[in-house]
Amino acid sequence: MERVYNFSAGPSVLPVSVLEKVQKDLVSFGNAGMSVMEMSHRSKEFEEIIQKCEALLREILEIPTNYKVLFLQGGASTQFSMVPLNLLKHFQTAAFINTGSWSKKAISEAKKYGDVKIIASSEDKNYSYIPKLEDLYIDPSIDYLHITSNNTIEGTKFSSFPTTKAPLVADFSSNILSEPIDVSKFGLIYAGAQKNIGPAGLTIVIIRDDLIGHANTLCPTMLDYKTHVGASSLYNTPPTFSIYVSMLVLEWIKEQGGLKQIHENNLLKAKLLYDFIDQSPLFSSPVEIESRSLMNIPFSTSSEEINKQFLVEALANGFVNLEGHRSVGGMRASIYNAMPVEGIEKLVQFMSQFEKNIVEVIES
Ligand SMILES: *Cc1c(COP(=O)(O)O)cnc(C)c1O
Repeated sequence: MERVYNFSAGPSVLPVSVLEKVQKDLVSFGNAGMSVMEMSHRSKEFEEIIQKCEALLREILEIPTNYKVLFLQGGASTQFSMVPLNLLKHFQTAAFINTGSWSKKAISEAKKYGDVKIIASSEDKNYSYIPKLEDLYIDPSIDYLHITSNNTIEGTKFSSFPTTKAPLVADFSSNILSEPIDVSKFGLIYAGAQKNIGPAGLTIVIIRDDLIGHANTLCPTMLDYKTHVGASSLYNTPPTFSIYVSMLVLEWIKEQGGLKQIHENNLLKAKLLYDFIDQSPLFSSPVEIESRSLMNIPFSTSSEEINKQFLVEALANGFVNLEGHRSVGGMRASIYNAMPVEGIEKLVQFMSQFEKNIVEVIES
C-alpha cells in the first residue's frame, strides 16, 4: 500500500529514508550478523550506537558540556514525577505556568511531592494563548519553574522563555528539534521521543550537572537521575531499538542542514496551513496568532457535522489522523519535522476543494 500523509500527534511520521535504512539493516546490522533488536545493550555495536546518538544530539542542539544527556524510559509522563523527586531540594516548592492538559498533569504529579505555585495560566481562555512573560512575578523561593514549551493538544508554543534565577524546566516533548534553542537557559529539558525524535519507548532528558544528585531519600533508584548519569544510561536495559532509530533521525536532521534549516522548513509548512485557515470562510483556528505552534495546528469549522464529514473525506483521500484530541474536538494537523512540505500543500488543496463543495451545497 502507498504511504498516507500521517498527521498523528504521536507516535508520528518518520522520514521515509530513515525507515528504509532500518529496513535494509533490520535482519543484520553492519557486520553484527544480528538485528539491533537482538543485541546486548552492552555490546560494542550498541555502545557505538548510543554514543553516536548522544554525540549527534549534542552537536545538533549545541548542548553545553556541563549538561548530561540521558536515554530513559517511561515517557514524558514519568518525568512529571521524576523532576519533583529530584529537584525539590531547598524550598520544597515548584512554580508552574499552566498552558494546558500536559501542564495540568505535570502539576498534579508535582503536588504529591511538594508545594506548587501556579504563577500564570491561560485556562481563562481555554488555553488558546501563552501568558505574557513580562507580567510574570517569579518568587525567589522556588526550586524550579516548569513550562510546557509546546502544547500538543491546544496548539500553542512559547516563542521566548522566562528568565529565572531558579532552574527552568521544560517539557519539550512536541517541539524538541523543531528549531534551534539555547539549552543554557534551561536547567532541565525532557521529551518523549515519539513526536519529533523517533519511535515510542525512549525519553530524552538533558540535565545541568548541578541538578544531579539531590534526589529525595524516598526516590526509587530508577527515578534518580544520578543512577542513569553514573551508568551512562545503561543502568538497566535501555530502549535499544528506539535509540537506534533516533540516531538515524538525528543523522537525517544533519543531512537536512541542521536545526536552522529544519526551522525554516517548519515555518514555511506552518505558514501554508495558517494562511489558508485564516482566509477561509469555512475553517478557523482557535489559537491566538502570537502563540501558535509550528508543530500542532488545531482547526475547526463551526459545525460538528461538517467536521465529521471533513474527517471522513480526508481519510478517504489519504490524510490520516486529523482528529482533534478527544478533549477539544475539531481537527488537528500535527506537522512534525518529518512531514514533507508536499503533505501540507496537498492538505491545503484538499481543504480548499472541500470548502468549495460545502459552500456550493449551502448556497444551492
Ligand atoms: C505526548 C506528550 C506528553 C506525554 O508523553 P508520554 O511519552 O506519552 O508520556 C507529555 N507532554 C507533552 C507536551 C506531550 O506532547
